[in-house]
Amino acid sequence: MLDNNASVLLIYTGGTIGMIEDEETNALKPFNFNHLKEYVPELNRLKFNIDSIQFKNPIDSSDMNPDKWKKIVWIIEDNYDKYDGFVILHGTDTMAYSASALSFMLENLNKPVILTGSQLPIGKIRTDGKENLITALEIAVDKDADGNAFVTEVCVFFQNLLMRGNRTTKINAANFKAFNSFNFPILAEAGTYIRYKHELMHRPLRNSKPKFHYPLDSNVAIVKLFPGISAEILKAMIVIPHLKAIVLETYGAGNAPSENWFLDIIAEAVKKGIVVVNVTQCTSGSVEMERYQAGKALKDIGALSGYDITTEAAVAKLMFLFGHGLDRKEVKMYMKMSLVGETTIE
Ligand code: ASP
Repeated sequence: MLDNNASVLLIYTGGTIGMIEDEETNALKPFNFNHLKEYVPELNRLKFNIDSIQFKNPIDSSDMNPDKWKKIVWIIEDNYDKYDGFVILHGTDTMAYSASALSFMLENLNKPVILTGSQLPIGKIRTDGKENLITALEIAVDKDADGNAFVTEVCVFFQNLLMRGNRTTKINAANFKAFNSFNFPILAEAGTYIRYKHELMHRPLRNSKPKFHYPLDSNVAIVKLFPGISAEILKAMIVIPHLKAIVLETYGAGNAPSENWFLDIIAEAVKKGIVVVNVTQCTSGSVEMERYQAGKALKDIGALSGYDITTEAAVAKLMFLFGHGLDRKEVKMYMKMSLVGETTIE
């Protein structure tokens, strides 16, 4: 149902969608967002209000970082009561990390927060940005007959698909279908109508207000296994000062080398208090450390299963949990739970 008094806040952080070609150099540069309607005149035909706010210096999302996530959260907190929904324009490169982080930082949402972007700048004739932007805006104001928002979580909208933000992964650097949600179903699909899967939506706790979280601790590392990975590399990782967690990208169902030197180093990391989370390098499926001896050995020395969480969401969740000053035991407890639909615990 469309409410004519509805209002969306569009937050432009940067990325290809808001860039135009410099006439002299042909390089892409961010354009002044106040001119958005010149590039997307269709926005004038939407029957709700759109306000926009942009980062002072819009960034390529390769420059995204926890301080900028906090800035986005602050913008949303500051404007939360004034708008029905929020659309964040963001570069695609790190969108899945940002969507994951925001899903933890924005607790108990009762309004949509939708990240979108594009593979081609909005000023280009064949741009995918217009569709992505216009539909994301429509979803941001969509409500049921009682005035309740259909979407109450942080999502990524891309190429007609609305996905749970913390389940997304960027899968293509060129195609318009740039994202996928491998381990969780699509939340809505835009065709002639926007079809929502209401039963899958993450809902806020009843009688609880939204909570905006800022603390993040980035003393987290990702280690991707490969045949030939050396003891020197692994040893160097675990002596990094203040390192609190390692997201260990393993093979298949959570398998890793069974050689003693490898297991000894991981065991030493665990003994030092580093939380080791086992995440699979496969795009789909879950870690099952009991399935093979090569996974069981990791479990026996104290590595945790990340189940089917994405690397992006695992990193964001660890930053969030350690940022809140939780100790190792508490972090381990929360890693075994799904907080905002980021993992499927079997
Ligand atoms: N490098 C760009 C970015 O992530 C790519 C994009 O926006 O699609 O900001």
